[in-house]
Amino acid sequence: MPLSKESLDSLLSVVARFVKERLVTLEASVAENDRVPDAVIDEMKEMGLFGMSIPEEHGGLGLTMEEEVLVAFELGRTSPVFRSALGTNNGIGSQAIIMFGTDEQKRRYLPRLANGDIIGSFALTEPEAGSDAGSVRTTARRDGDGYVINGTKRFITNAPKAGVFSVFARTDVNVPGAKGISAFLVPAGLPGIEIGQPEKKMGQHGTYVSDVVFTDVRVGRDALLGGVEGQGFKAAMQVLDRGRLHISAVCVGVANRLIADSVAYANQRKQFGRPISDFQLIQAMLADSYAETLAARSMVLDTARRRDKGDDVNVDASACKMFAS
Ligand SMILES: Cc1cc2nc3c(=O)[nH]c(=O)nc-3n(C[C@H](O)[C@H](O)[C@H](O)COP(=O)(O)OP(=O)(O)OC[C@H]3O[C@@H](n4cnc5c(N)ncnc54)[C@H](O)[C@@H]3O)c2cc1C
Repeated sequence: MPLSKESLDSLLSVVARFVKERLVTLEASVAENDRVPDAVIDEMKEMGLFGMSIPEEHGGLGLTMEEEVLVAFELGRTSPVFRSALGTNNGIGSQAIIMFGTDEQKRRYLPRLANGDIIGSFALTEPEAGSDAGSVRTTARRDGDGYVINGTKRFITNAPKAGVFSVFARTDVNVPGAKGISAFLVPAGLPGIEIGQPEKKMGQHGTYVSDVVFTDVRVGRDALLGGVEGQGFKAAMQVLDRGRLHISAVCVGVANRLIADSVAYANQRKQFGRPISDFQLIQAMLADSYAETLAARSMVLDTARRRDKGDDVNVDASACKMFAS
């Protein structure tokens, strides 16, 4: 159910104020210390931001896609690091469970993901499987009543803080490509799971991306997402569709912030005896940026609305991400 207009306006203004008054002031220190303070994480939990996209019956806010992108426009107006802290719980770390999980899997994980007690991570990419995600080599071999997982996952966001991984692994090595892949919900503390050192990144200091190595990790049959083999690739692609729209909206927010900062700077910086905003070339660049950002915002909102109606937005979500980012 969509929120009432008053509830949505109130949520958006609370988030906008939190971004402006709290998060923006912390940007430099978070980048310097490579860490979002725990107090800020706790405030985001209290606001319900870890469970924006998780259904209300499982403890989340149950936002529609349109409502979620409106919140993401606001969250984008600061360093994306803050959004990343709660991003996987709202997106790639929870959506597979929401879309494909059994009732028992939903009950076990969603309430704790929604309140931020645990962090969900999405483990698809491997050293040899990036864009070609259907070529994953990680295996989940049937063993008695469960499975044994072996393989290496790469660039896994929030892995060092994760409580549960959605792991994509090949259950049938005789079926090549996407069809042989299944998804598993794997608690992070199981024996045989090793988290690599966080990668050194060019930006987004304060977010963590690591390898996750699985060596003979035993899981029960109840770890198989939805209780069905061979659905993993389909699940991953549907989760990523949603994630693409969310990231597109964050990019729109970032662009709005950059335009606001650029206008402020152009008004303040003087050369040749006047503010550089007086020069037509500067004005034209700002106008181009504004128009492109409005186009991105319109694409994202339209695609989110159509997704809420049940349309297949697979191609358009990718187009949004390409354009907005
Ligand atoms: C910050 C960050 C966070 C991430 N978080 C996660 C996560 O949480 N979970 C997860 O599973 N993965 C995650 N990833 C991995 C991400 O999904 C992969 O980086 C992505 O799929 C690309 O794979 P690759 O890096 O191996 O690049 P490659 O696939 O090797 O691509 C290299 C280059 O080749 C180009 N290329 C590839 N195929 C084609 C083609 N068919 N035609 C033309 N050009 C092509 C690409 O565009 C790119 O320029 C993350 C990555 C980053 C950088």
